[in-house]
Amino acid sequence: MSHVAMNRRSLLQSAGAASVATFVPSGAPAQKRAQNKAQVVVIGAGISGLETALILQEQGVDVQVIEGRDRAGGRILSLSDIPGAPEAGANTFGGGYARVLDAANRYGAAYKPNRQSYLRGLEIVVDDKIVTMDKWPDHPKNPLPKEHRDDTPWGYYARFMRDNMPLTQPGDWLDPKFAAFDVSFDDWMLSKGATEEVVDMCCNHKWEYNNSTHDVSALVVMFEYLWGRSVFAPNGVRSSFIFEGGNQRLPEAMAGKLKRDVHYGTEAVAIRSDDDGAEVHCADGTVYRAARVVSSIPFPVLRRLKVEPYFTGVQRKAIWSIPRQMVTQVHLVATSPFWDDDGFKPGMHIADAPVGYVMPTFGGDDPNELTSMMALMLGNKAERADQMDEDSVKKMVIHTIEKIRPAAKGKLEAAGYKSWFRDPFASGDWTNFGPGQVTQFAGKMNAPHGRIHICGDATGLSARGMEAALESAERVAVEILDVI
Ligand SMILES: Cc1cc2nc3c(=O)[nH]c(=O)nc-3n(C[C@H](O)[C@H](O)[C@H](O)COP(=O)(O)OP(=O)(O)OC[C@H]3O[C@@H](n4cnc5c(N)ncnc54)[C@H](O)[C@@H]3O)c2cc1C
Repeated sequence: MSHVAMNRRSLLQSAGAASVATFVPSGAPAQKRAQNKAQVVVIGAGISGLETALILQEQGVDVQVIEGRDRAGGRILSLSDIPGAPEAGANTFGGGYARVLDAANRYGAAYKPNRQSYLRGLEIVVDDKIVTMDKWPDHPKNPLPKEHRDDTPWGYYARFMRDNMPLTQPGDWLDPKFAAFDVSFDDWMLSKGATEEVVDMCCNHKWEYNNSTHDVSALVVMFEYLWGRSVFAPNGVRSSFIFEGGNQRLPEAMAGKLKRDVHYGTEAVAIRSDDDGAEVHCADGTVYRAARVVSSIPFPVLRRLKVEPYFTGVQRKAIWSIPRQMVTQVHLVATSPFWDDDGFKPGMHIADAPVGYVMPTFGGDDPNELTSMMALMLGNKAERADQMDEDSVKKMVIHTIEKIRPAAKGKLEAAGYKSWFRDPFASGDWTNFGPGQVTQFAGKMNAPHGRIHICGDATGLSARGMEAALESAERVAVEILDVI
């Protein structure tokens, strides 16, 4: 602690050094300038930025978090004004999410079992019609091999992964001996005997890694598959959780533990660093000065920032080229339970329609109470939706569902809309390494760039999603504690 305190004094002195005058606009009031000095400035109040700040704060470092949006949580967003508070961002975590569970305990966020629809099954929809499981094996559009034609598309996908998996444990994805699998997931599936029709039916209609099986590395999908099994069924028993009142309660609880309030509505547009320190310039003209800057900005957004001196080598290439996923959602509330009228499950896996997936949320006190439904468009379906205005997307979604299920006619209201690509602080949902990029970038793009440290889920190596975001925070906090 004492060395931290000592360095803190010297850093605060350097933060007040002459070079500040060079960068702070001359019109900025002196008092505001003083408030904008800290040992470390963290850009982004998602969980990776907040966790970095909290670890540093615990070690006696003076940290200021700034955030472009007017809320904490980033890609964790609970829609509290819709019945059951459905999630627009991160929707669940498993019993093996050790860091998330630890954060829940440390910051005081209660969680409970998750009751979302994928645990309860989906109907298969082909050519705008529900195909029940008794008809599916003989359906002309069922592309599955004859011995498995009674599998659902998602069931066959799991079987295919299990039967063909070359990795033995999640960490193998980084082992050079498996580098040959750093090819597109599409190529890998075809090389293992899947037909193109199988890949499209089982994956591309509701694909969750970038925009199709073509732009994601097979190693990423293999890693996620093995890691997912280990964290969502840590002892062989499936577990899935959600925070009480919505997942956003975790980042809110974290932000509440910071000594310095998060500065919301503060969009970073440039980061400059030199031998004396670093500065973050914001859209409203505010300038923050610190010894170290942490960027938790997702790469598709970071690409747009002015950074001086600019990233180089592998890091520059990674920031510019890792693909991102497009996801657009419409949240729906049913005025009456039309699924009781037509007798089908409310959730749907939809082929050949503008919507890919309908996922109900059971968010009420009664575990069987369906509180809302999320219509999900992923990849090229999201791209099409994002070319339309919000109202037209909502109408298109309701029309699509009504066409498939006449019982839903007049019974659906659009209660929410979220395009993660249109969101300027996300510019997409997940980023996943493309073919060839695991070998090029994984673990090689995370080093500090001068005084700038990079965290965020995309830099996680042992985990995915929220857990990867927290893993990255630990790495960055250690990097900084090592040098101050
Ligand atoms: C639809 C969806 C479903 C998901 N489902 C799951 C799931 O079930 N389980 C799971 O574990 N994970 C899931 N995830 C992923 C999970 O949400 C992320 O991995 C995690 O929240 C990332 O945290 P982060 O801090 O790395 O990034 P972010 O949450 O993106 O945080 C970055 C922060 O930086 C801010 N920012 C960006 N640009 C600027 C700027 N210029 N100036 C100032 N601030 C800026 C942003 O507003 C944001 O608050 C899902 C994500 C989405 C979108």
